[in-house]
Amino acid sequence: MEKILIVEDSNFFGSILKSRLEHNNGYEVMWARSLSETARILEDPNNIFLAGILDFNLPDAMDGEIIDVVVRKRIPVIVFTGNANEETRNLVWSKDVVDYVLKEDSQSIDYILSMLNRLKKNADIKIIAVAESDSFRIIIKNLLNIHQYKVFTANDGKKALELLSTYPDTKLVIAEYSMPGMDGFDLTKKIRENYKREDLAIIGILSEKEKVSAARFLKNGANDFIIKESFLTEEFYSRITQNIENIERINTIKEASIKDFLTGLYNRRYFFESGKKFFANAVRGHLNIICAMVDIDYFKKVNDTYGHEVGDIALRHVSSILNNRMRKSDIVTRFGGEEFCILAINMKAEKIKEIFKELCKKVESSPVELADKKNIKITISIGVSSKLTDNLEGMVKEADELLYKAKTAGRNRVEID
Ligand code: GH3
Ligand code: MG
Ligand code: MG
Repeated sequence: MEKILIVEDSNFFGSILKSRLEHNNGYEVMWARSLSETARILEDPNNIFLAGILDFNLPDAMDGEIIDVVVRKRIPVIVFTGNANEETRNLVWSKDVVDYVLKEDSQSIDYILSMLNRLKKNADIKIIAVAESDSFRIIIKNLLNIHQYKVFTANDGKKALELLSTYPDTKLVIAEYSMPGMDGFDLTKKIRENYKREDLAIIGILSEKEKVSAARFLKNGANDFIIKESFLTEEFYSRITQNIENIERINTIKEASIKDFLTGLYNRRYFFESGKKFFANAVRGHLNIICAMVDIDYFKKVNDTYGHEVGDIALRHVSSILNNRMRKSDIVTRFGGEEFCILAINMKAEKIKEIFKELCKKVESSPVELADKKNIKITISIGVSSKLTDNLEGMVKEADELLYKAKTAGRNRVEID
């Protein structure tokens, strides 16, 4: 369980915050009411915190000194204060904090919770920062590190491309517009040959003088830009977060469009999309593929006897058996209803029958366990086509016909061409 440090002398704010963190979000909370109490908590090396949420004014530290104490321990700090004056705001932002949140209404706490979520996710997000000067590169890297991102740095476009080929799952490149060698503009064009805007974001850094080139940068593939001399930390973070979250949102939509909601398996659309590539490779002789159509026997009876909800549980149960028994490289999909289609890659010809017979046995011997200790026995029938036809659709049709044969021959069995 992740720990959060709260430093807050007000009982009102402290208890609301603590209760939201513990009850709705499952965090373990340590709550200190003063700087001295915080110092004692931080002495214990067993106290490792995801973040600290700190009040600005405390009885024994009236001027934000608590921030330094916690930041020094490398704990990400969110300042949560009622103090909105500009002087305080500037002072807080000069202290390497993650964020500065005003105590306004219940939405302020929602915002803090989303920021904690962000910090957890950021630890797995890779960013490449590209800038010519060492000092500016370090500033950018530090800012990103405070938000827990994994940061890699380069001093020109060419090095950035090398980093990108080492870390192809990078989500954001932040690059100076002008650099010696390959500049940010050419780097952007090069990256866009392989990465779409929705897969990897690029934020350009322009100087005040280069502002006129911003539109050209955006038109040629940058998602966003900042001005080097005048950006504020809070603005910097907002742009980074927004760009990362856009990519995440698109990813969620993409996932939803290729996955089946009930079972979490890939859907028919994904089967044909990715299956076509494997089929083409199989035609070229680079690999072997087989197509197996799986259907639950007498499934209608399960629904009729126990209800649709239990039918859904049974579907998930069979899905997870199929998924666990196949290799990671195989494509296991829910084709529709109680029908599944598997594209298995490089399955040894002499093993095919055995593997699918075992799959039938596994389903037969793993009853669906219901809450009331009732067990439902389920069986499946399978048709397997192992010969390449004109196209993938042909293999699926063949497997379907073999499945029909397995059904008429008595069910709970495998038919292979
Ligand atoms: P057979 O052995 O010949 O395959 O018989 P069957 O009863 O399994 O086949 P049939 O095609 O007659 O019935 C399939 C049933 O699957 C009917 C439908 O209500 C049920 N079904 C399809 N999709 C879902 C679903 O998402 N959830 C549930 N609970 N049932 C579903
Ligand atoms: Mg069926
Ligand atoms: Mg069916």
